[in-house]
Amino acid sequence: MPLILSPPEVDVHVHTVASGHAFSTINEIAREAADKGLRGVGMCDHGPALPGGPHPYHFAALRFVPQNMHGVRIFKGVEANIIGPGEIDLPEQRLATLELIMAGFHEDCGYRGHSIADHTAALLLLMERRTARIITHPGNPLFPLDYEAVARKGAETGTALEINNASFSASRSGSEGNCLEIARLCARFGTPVALGSDAHIAQGVGIFDDALATLQAAGIMPEQVVNRTLASTLTFLGLTA
Ligand SMILES: [Zn+2]
Ligand SMILES: [Zn+2]
Repeated sequence: MPLILSPPEVDVHVHTVASGHAFSTINEIAREAADKGLRGVGMCDHGPALPGGPHPYHFAALRFVPQNMHGVRIFKGVEANIIGPGEIDLPEQRLATLELIMAGFHEDCGYRGHSIADHTAALLLLMERRTARIITHPGNPLFPLDYEAVARKGAETGTALEINNASFSASRSGSEGNCLEIARLCARFGTPVALGSDAHIAQGVGIFDDALATLQAAGIMPEQVVNRTLASTLTFLGLTA
């Protein structure tokens, strides 16, 4: 009998106006999340290398954001840019204060790799360093990877691979088949996975339908989904509240 995965309680991947090209404040996002019955959101604005992205001071100033808004746990984080082998665009001193460090490949951020071998080596080294807990949209066809090597490394290092809902519609055209392949490999190796909306406006928060269907089709076990509940998200991130 097929497993039925529930929509997650936490949307780990949301952008606010601080990203420079997104349209809602954290207050608006938290209110929308509460209305939809979510229990947490990851406030993960882009790293500073993305054109229009926040200054590094933004990440220090996250201390002013309450831990809970409208009854929703706000995970203070970043979607950092991979800028070289094992390297992302925020220094250790800034990362130390964050609760949720995600990283992914993006265009126009100074990353100079050109091939599957380059991208895979850059990502595997980052995962070995355990800097980021979640790798965002690894199915992006602009940065093809050796998916089997990445899924194995995720299982080995406890790094989650995100199945990003926006990759099926608004962003990164051509991701769909890659996402299914990645999800199948994660099912095979027991790799942790995360679901993210990648919302750039409040109305997009908590929309996971396509990504959830992909995890379901791939045979992902419920306990592999790190953000399935607020409690599982806290545990995955090593937080107590
Ligand atoms: Zn991204
Ligand atoms: Zn994003």
